[in-house]
Amino acid sequence: MERSPNQFPQAAQNALKNPTLQTAMERGTQNGVNSRLRAMGELPHADQLRQQGRAAKQRALNHLPDLLTQFEAQISARGAQVLWAEDAAEANRLILEIAQKHRVKKVVKGKSMVTEEIGLNPVLEGAGLEVIETDLGEFIVQLDHDTPSHIVAPIIHKTREQVRDLFMDRLHMPASDDPAVMTAHARAHLRQEFLSADMGITGANFLIAETGTAVIVTNEGNGRMTSSLPKVHVIAVGIEKIVPTLEDFGTLLQILTRSATGQKMSVYTHLMSGPASPQDPDGPDSMYVVLIDNGRSRIYGEQYAEVLLCLRCGACQHVCPVYQNVGGHAYGAVYGGPIGSVLTPLQQGVENAHPLPYASSLCGACQAACPVIINLPDMLLKLRADLVSGGHTEPIMQMGIKAWARVMQSPRLYGLGGAAARAGTRFLSRGSETVTALPGILGNWTDQRDFPAFAPKSFHQLWREREQGS
Ligand code: SF4
Repeated sequence: MERSPNQFPQAAQNALKNPTLQTAMERGTQNGVNSRLRAMGELPHADQLRQQGRAAKQRALNHLPDLLTQFEAQISARGAQVLWAEDAAEANRLILEIAQKHRVKKVVKGKSMVTEEIGLNPVLEGAGLEVIETDLGEFIVQLDHDTPSHIVAPIIHKTREQVRDLFMDRLHMPASDDPAVMTAHARAHLRQEFLSADMGITGANFLIAETGTAVIVTNEGNGRMTSSLPKVHVIAVGIEKIVPTLEDFGTLLQILTRSATGQKMSVYTHLMSGPASPQDPDGPDSMYVVLIDNGRSRIYGEQYAEVLLCLRCGACQHVCPVYQNVGGHAYGAVYGGPIGSVLTPLQQGVENAHPLPYASSLCGACQAACPVIINLPDMLLKLRADLVSGGHTEPIMQMGIKAWARVMQSPRLYGLGGAAARAGTRFLSRGSETVTALPGILGNWTDQRDFPAFAPKSFHQLWREREQGS
């Protein structure tokens, strides 16, 4: 089903009424929060390490063009080909041309959010290629004709029981909801795909400029098989993944894995610096790195450049009270949660994602969890300001804000408004502390929660009485 960020309010309502989704989100996000807290808590200098990681990414951003050129020179010297894609269409065209040049029929893919972002799979499949996702979560998503709903846990919205039923139906697995049994079944299925694929496509978590190395971190080993078994390997990667040095990579790796999956280290950390040399026992004959811009250069030049520090760890999604309740699909875009509420309006235009900057309580949990301390709440506020200044807010909201500003500038109107609100809510609450149903458009508030009745006397009144009594 086609989704749109502008449908967020309705999609969120639907998500809240879905008990299976609620169960899956509760389990998944709490597990993510707890494992990150445990893993970060083991570090004696976690906050200093986060500051150090942020500084490394900031250095990378400050010298982005030079570092990308340095990376290209280093990895090209060892036989890889670097291609530059300005937008999604160009990235897809370049990757398809590589496949056609090598007469590829079957592609295996490692987990890659940027290929979701550019919509690569439908392009390859439309050209007659068979494309198989090999990350277990992405494999399940593909099998179910679904889309990922979290950056590192694509099936966070599914329960184990749903996956069991899917495997029994589509892979003829004997009945079992033991994760080990289900994983073994998927692995046996995927092993044949690795061995018969002509091309592997992965993303990259980091590009190290000084050594010309692309790095992927995985827990399943599928990234290593995808990048080394087929004869052709394509790395599709956003340009913001560059870091200056191996040392910076070492710093960031420690906070990435702890923040993403609560691990000190992921099971596999795979460093790739070119195609196989004649001395290597295995590895691809041809390696391509497609450096994807797709709006990143534009963001780089704006007040939102800080968002390019993002490591795509998903920690801000786990902790966000909105994401925890509505899941990733409600956001109607590839990236959900707080990072998505900033990235999607920046990538698609704020008018095409106008509910998302408001999909936040601004509680600050996202920034507190972020390994590189990105100030997401501040960017959400700035995006709201952009929406207002661009005239993209609902007319009723604009009228309400104008009326509020007027009232706040006039003590007389403020006093009258307060008296009316006190009388109105006391009447509607029928003597209790809360109003359960406000009239008219205000009922949108009480559809979801109660409204506390105003106190019988205002602070000004109480203060005056106190002064007169003293
Ligand atoms: S904004 Fe921070 S917490 Fe969220 S995905 Fe990016 S790095 Fe992780």
